[in-house]
Amino acid sequence: MRPADETETDWMAYGHCADRPPSLFFPSDGVGVDVARRICADCPVKELCLEYALTNRIDHGVWGGCSERERRRILKRRRQEAEATATETPTGA
Ligand code: SF4
Repeated sequence: MRPADETETDWMAYGHCADRPPSLFFPSDGVGVDVARRICADCPVKELCLEYALTNRIDHGVWGGCSERERRRILKRRRQEAEATATETPTGA
């Protein structure tokens, strides 16, 4: 039996970044972010990668084709949507 966290990251072996230097995905400027995004663009595990980064609140690097800033925006939007849903009152109709 494999540990849960290993299963959770099995998809990483199928990413387009698997055989590239990790430093490409931790760029220091916008040009580097664009380079990483282009590699991620047609990655077969892009959605899994993005959800993994969002779920684990990974602050650094490009994951699932999204920069840190983009992931913060996604998390903020999801929080707002969840709050809006939670405060919706039934109409009784
Ligand atoms: S989406 Fe990008 S960072 Fe994620 S596995 Fe694919 S190539 Fe790697």
